[in-house]
Amino acid sequence: MNDTPRHATLRRRLAEQLYAKGIKNTKVLNAIANVPRHLFMSSTLEPFAYNDNAYPIGADQTISQPWTVAYQTELLNPQEGEKVLEIGTGSGYQSAVLACCGASVYSVERIRELSESAQKRLASLNYKVQCKYGDGYEGWVEMAPFDKIIVTAGASEIPQNLLMQCKIGGSIVIPVQEKSGLRMVRLARVSETNFSKEDFGTCAFVPMLKGIM
Ligand code: SAH
Repeated sequence: MNDTPRHATLRRRLAEQLYAKGIKNTKVLNAIANVPRHLFMSSTLEPFAYNDNAYPIGADQTISQPWTVAYQTELLNPQEGEKVLEIGTGSGYQSAVLACCGASVYSVERIRELSESAQKRLASLNYKVQCKYGDGYEGWVEMAPFDKIIVTAGASEIPQNLLMQCKIGGSIVIPVQEKSGLRMVRLARVSETNFSKEDFGTCAFVPMLKGIM
């Protein structure tokens, strides 16, 4: 499949819709207008690629809804050259959006077939993303520390390893299970031992599971 001017028009429209839904970060909107989402999905779903919905990508997983990708990226606010760790590569779409914002991206996926296909896809589209097949609960210790960490699956608790792999002054955006349900949370590492926490309300994600498969 190719990228065409028609796809580019659909992407610009999608970015406008996300702006109308409250996403204001220009870098994020530009990334949405630039990353060819249809090339991260099965060709049978191509007609839906620029709808603001999640779609299946195999192995019982989904490519996140564009609004969710944009919202998490806006909360993360990646800056040029920052080292960003993503947990849950999936299709690689979120990784590409982060790379398009200028981040140096490291992404971990626990399902081998998804990790391998995302890695090939990102390389063929020239996105500077390093992928690892492994359990995101462990982070990526060889590449740590990271300026920022983004988790794209719902965690039952905040993984200790991710806290330790975040630089002081850095932040983590993670959907995490609380008594009231799954919440979008942003943690900022203020010192060796202290993190501040902000809550951005309820959200929906596939679960973050332990171990590899
Ligand atoms: N960022 C992806 C979203 C994929 S859905 C995209 O843009 O397409 C979430 C992904 O997290 C799934 O692929 C799932 O397999 C993965 N995942 C769940 N638990 C994980 C873990 N412990 N480590 C790494 N990846 C995990």
